[in-house]
Amino acid sequence: MSTQPIELKRTYCRVCMVHCGLVAEVAGDRILKVRGDHDHPLTKGYTCPKGRATGQIHHLEPAITRPLMRKDGELVPVSWDEALDDIAQKLRRIIDTHGPNAIGMYFGSGLGLDSSGYLMEEAFYNALGTPPKFSPLTNDGTAKVMLAGAMGSFYGLNPKTDYDNVDMLIYVGTNPMVSHAHNTGMFNPAVWIRSAAKRGEVWTIDPLFTETAKFSTRHIAAYPGKDYAILAWLTREIIDGGPFNPRQAINGLEQLRAALEGYTCAKAADIAGVTEQELQDLLAAIRRKGRVVVETGTGITMSAGCNMTQWFAWLLMILTGAMNQKGGAWFHPGFLFPFDQVELPLLQSAFTPGSNVRPDVKGILGDWPCAVLPLEIEGGNIRGFFNFGGSIVRSFPDTNALTAALRKLELHVNTEVVHNDVTPYCTHVLPTKGAAERAEFTRWDTLAWNLSLQYTPPLVKPKGERRSAWWVLSQFMKRAGLPVPAFLPESDLHEGADELMLAKLMENARCSFAELKEKRYVEFPLEFPAPWVDKHFERIGGWKLAPPELLGQWNAMRSADEAASGRPKPLCYSSRRQRRKLNGQLSFLGEPANVILHPLDAAAHGITDGQKVRVHNATGEIVLIAKVNAGMRRGVLSIPHGHEDANVNHLTSVHKVDPLGGMALYSGVPVAMEPVAE
Ligand code: SF4
Repeated sequence: MSTQPIELKRTYCRVCMVHCGLVAEVAGDRILKVRGDHDHPLTKGYTCPKGRATGQIHHLEPAITRPLMRKDGELVPVSWDEALDDIAQKLRRIIDTHGPNAIGMYFGSGLGLDSSGYLMEEAFYNALGTPPKFSPLTNDGTAKVMLAGAMGSFYGLNPKTDYDNVDMLIYVGTNPMVSHAHNTGMFNPAVWIRSAAKRGEVWTIDPLFTETAKFSTRHIAAYPGKDYAILAWLTREIIDGGPFNPRQAINGLEQLRAALEGYTCAKAADIAGVTEQELQDLLAAIRRKGRVVVETGTGITMSAGCNMTQWFAWLLMILTGAMNQKGGAWFHPGFLFPFDQVELPLLQSAFTPGSNVRPDVKGILGDWPCAVLPLEIEGGNIRGFFNFGGSIVRSFPDTNALTAALRKLELHVNTEVVHNDVTPYCTHVLPTKGAAERAEFTRWDTLAWNLSLQYTPPLVKPKGERRSAWWVLSQFMKRAGLPVPAFLPESDLHEGADELMLAKLMENARCSFAELKEKRYVEFPLEFPAPWVDKHFERIGGWKLAPPELLGQWNAMRSADEAASGRPKPLCYSSRRQRRKLNGQLSFLGEPANVILHPLDAAAHGITDGQKVRVHNATGEIVLIAKVNAGMRRGVLSIPHGHEDANVNHLTSVHKVDPLGGMALYSGVPVAMEPVAE
């Protein structure tokens, strides 16, 4: 029991992009208790269980507090100098022997939320001449950014629902009651969803009757990966019979109309595995309201229909005039780099070159699909790998292929604060400051709920010998003879060095770092509808409705699905988020590794509620606990994202990827199951 006085410290949650305001009781280096901050200007006391677990997350064991290096097969504590010198020497040897492209990097969420650490990741990446790079973007959702580039010539376009006014909203493959929405930063989701449903209509399309479906006006249980058929048919109907009222200029309408020719309600219903009446009812609802907003999530972006669903979702919003319109969707104008104050850089192509082993599958933003990493290592193309805080064993596809490949790396450096299932494969583990140990601001500004930025000082001192990530990266870079930015402070141990790094990131921002630090929360009013959005589309000649790559994929999927029409759909699983877990993290908060299945599927397989079930396919198998639930669509199992006790990535494959953006398929994957004999 600590004898130190208890201080109340205000901060914000660093687990997800909502960044809820928190108040922590801190005694010395212990975070005793965390609750919502009722005085927070935005979230006003709201938190979810993950935020309230900030103390547990910080005190999680076995903590890594000293640099670790593999010697004679064992990871052992060493000094910073020894670890950094060894990394630098091995890094230099790989570069000199095989070139800088033999170094791969994963920009994981760990350092992704460490603003100054992320700045140095980018500096390292650029110093090596942009070698192979992987990111959460290419692990759970290439479609959204791809669409922004392909239809709007700017990756930064991210439509967000106008929750104050929306009256026709469709959620497809997203469960904001649990996930707080994808790229939207939605706090207190029950309030927003209920009020939208009360004002108008909210429809949820998901194979499971989710927590969000419970608050919705209607639920449609489509077959995973085939939701796109519903939206494609709606698009055709909107073009032919309205409401057709695009707010910005458009081009490619005739190509789109031709591509949808003959796509009937019966075909769409058959492909999506729903009734024609459900589709007609949904169309009637859109026609009643005159405009529609469609939100998608990882249920979509991780499925074979990822690009198509996202494409038709955007088409519905564009064609009904919801983009940049009250009651529709707004676009974040950027806080750190204000989009409305500059002429936006225009993309020539939404796609970047593919990897060595899959040149046919495009890169997005220069990032390679995470599925190719094991193949690149096995092929000898990647020999050194820097994992900047990603739970890759639980979150990357095809665990067996990945772990076999990781063993072959000559250098595998991980920035991490807790031993996990990645560290056994590392040559070096570098403990950088944890979330509660560093000053920070909300760097991913455009994913926020509004036009604001927040700052927090550290809650506690760093444990053991942990250092700032920016300093750690700059040290092995310098020692390997790589250039580092001239503005870097000499050491993170110097007073104010971390904050100087944060200030550097805010040089172009809407307010100064000094102002943010003083006020903690700075918000600007949102201009909506925003002139900069309409001006951008005037400049590029309007929305590109029919990018050739998407038309090509549509034609291929349409013919394959129409050819399979009438055949039984195989048993498959869809992926699910859980309230007390975040992707591959936080399993210790107690969410069960369960599989949700329909009572008739359970009975047909001789499975009872609570029984152990083996789910398997050609890639591998996992054992989960059955949760029999009549809200699950028949023929579909719902399995959580990367769970410690039953990692779904034993069922995903490095060979089963979206042919356009390379997303590994995590949803709609065929499987078999049977009860496990006790
Ligand atoms: S929704 Fe939960 S995890 Fe996300 S910021 Fe708020 S408390 Fe943290």
